[in-house]
Amino acid sequence: MIARLNRPYIDGAFVDPQTDDTFARVTPVNGQALPSIASCGDADVDRAVASARKAFETSDWRRRSPRERKRVLQRLSVLMLENKDEMAALLTADMGKPIASATWEVEFSAEVFEWFGEAVDHLFGDVAPLGHDAHATITREPIGVAAAVTPWNFPLLMPSVKLAPALASGNTVVLKPAEQSPLAALRLAELATEAGLPDGVLNVVTGLGETAGKALALHMDVDAIGFTGSTSVGRLIMKYAAESNLKKVSLELGGKSPSLVLADAADHEMVAVKTAEAIFGNTGQMCDSSSRMVVHESIADSVIEHLNTVAGRWQPLDPFDPTAVMGPVVDKSQYDRVLGYLDVGREEGAQVTVGGNATMVDTGGFYIEPTVLRNVTNDMRVAREEIFGPVLSVITFSDDEEGLRIANDTNYGLAATVWTNDIRKAHRMAREIRAGAVLVNGDELFDVTLPHGGFKESGMGRDYSHYAFDNWTQLKATYINLA
Ligand code: NAD
Repeated sequence: MIARLNRPYIDGAFVDPQTDDTFARVTPVNGQALPSIASCGDADVDRAVASARKAFETSDWRRRSPRERKRVLQRLSVLMLENKDEMAALLTADMGKPIASATWEVEFSAEVFEWFGEAVDHLFGDVAPLGHDAHATITREPIGVAAAVTPWNFPLLMPSVKLAPALASGNTVVLKPAEQSPLAALRLAELATEAGLPDGVLNVVTGLGETAGKALALHMDVDAIGFTGSTSVGRLIMKYAAESNLKKVSLELGGKSPSLVLADAADHEMVAVKTAEAIFGNTGQMCDSSSRMVVHESIADSVIEHLNTVAGRWQPLDPFDPTAVMGPVVDKSQYDRVLGYLDVGREEGAQVTVGGNATMVDTGGFYIEPTVLRNVTNDMRVAREEIFGPVLSVITFSDDEEGLRIANDTNYGLAATVWTNDIRKAHRMAREIRAGAVLVNGDELFDVTLPHGGFKESGMGRDYSHYAFDNWTQLKATYINLA
C-alpha cells in the first residue's frame, strides 16, 4: 500500500510525474526509510490545475443539486470508516501519532465529510427586500478551481476540513499535502473516486512547499487557496496571491495559546489533566496547543506539582503500541528544533520541573519527554515563539488584570482557556481575550459545528462549521426587472 502512494493523483488516477525528482523520507517511529515520493514541480502542478479547470467547466459537479453532491461526500465518509485501520496506520507511519489518535483522526475526518455533505443541502440563498418592480436573489456560487496547502500535524483532518466544504459547494480542488505526511491524503483521493467523485474534481500533487506549494499559490488559474501552516509561510501565500491573480486567500496559522488559571480555580488536578491533554496531545504539535500557562502565583506550586505527576502518564511509546498516548515528533528537524528550544529556555533562566530531554534514543525515532518549564516570563523566547512540541511554559501573575494582559501579550490569537469558578470572571475574561476560540474550564475544542480560526497573526477565515463556506463560495446578486 505505502509503496503505491508515491505519485500525484490527477484526473481520477495515480499518474507518472513529469519529473524524476523525489524526496526521501524516514518514519519518526524508528528512523527507518519510507518509500520516496515524487517531488512535483511546475509541470505537474499545471497538469493538476488543468484537470481541475476542465472538471469545473465541463463535468456536471458544480451543476448538480447539493443533494447529489451530498450523496457522494457521504459515500466517501462511509468508505473512510470502512478503511479506517489502514488509513490510521498510514498516519502513524508517516508522522508518528499514536495509533489510537490516528484512528480518532480518521473517524473525525469522516464525520467532517458527512457533516458538510448535509450542511450544503441546507444552505439557502436570500431574496432581497426590493419594491414590486424588481426581484433580486442573493446566491452562493463556487469560486472555481480551489487549492489547499496543508501541514503534517493532522495529515487527514487538515485536508478534510478544506476539501469537504470546497467540494460540497461545487468547486474542484488541487491539494498539496505536507511532504512529511502525504500518504493518507493520497488514499483519500482514491477513495473519493470510488465514492463517485467525477475525475478531475479532486487532484493531489505531492511535493515540497517551495516548489509545488509555491507553484499552486502563484498559479494564474487557481481561484482560491486555503492554507494551514506556519505564520511565516502564510505571509508568503498572501504575497503569491497578490503577485499573481489575487486569488481568494484563507489562512489558518500558528498559535501560542494561553491557559489563564485564576486564583479561584478550585480543582488543580483537573487543570493539570486538561492542560496536559492540550499540550502533550499530538506530541504538542497542535496549532492551538495550550503552550503558555498563565497561573496565579498563589496556586502555581500546587498546579505545577499536579502537572509533574500528570506528565508521567504521557511518557512517549512506540506509536503503534495501542496503549501509546504520545509518540515521537514528526521528523529530525522538528526534533532538533524542540530540543533547541529547551536549551534556549534553560539559558533564558527557565527551570525544568519535569522532562526536558530526548528519550528512547536507541530506537532511532524522534522522542522527547513531556516537559514543563517554570520561572518563565512572557518576554522569553519560550513564551513568545511557537515551539510545536510537548513543552509547556509556566508564567505567574499576581492580579487578574496582569494575568489578562499577559494572556493577550502575543502576536497570535488562535485559542485560549480560562480556568475559574466565578461565572462573572469567566464571561469577562472570555470577552477580553483576543482569540478565535475561548474555552472556559477546558476540554475539547474540535467540533465540526464550531468555527476554527485566528485573530491577529493566527490567520483569517474560518474552517469547520457553516462559516467555512465563506472561504469556498462567492455571493452573486441577480436582479430581475419586473417593470
Ligand atoms: P509549514 O508552514 O512549514 O508548511 C505547511 C504547508 O505549506 C506544507 O504543505 C508545506 O509544504 C507548504 N509550504 C511550505 N513553504 C511553502 C511556500 N513557500 N509556498 C507554498 N507552500 C509552502 O507548516 P508545518 O510545519 O507543516 O505545520 C506546522 C504549522 O502549522 C504550525 O505553525 C501550526 O501552528 C500550523 N497549524 C495551524 C493550524 C490552524 O488551524 N490554525 C492547524 C494545524 C497547523
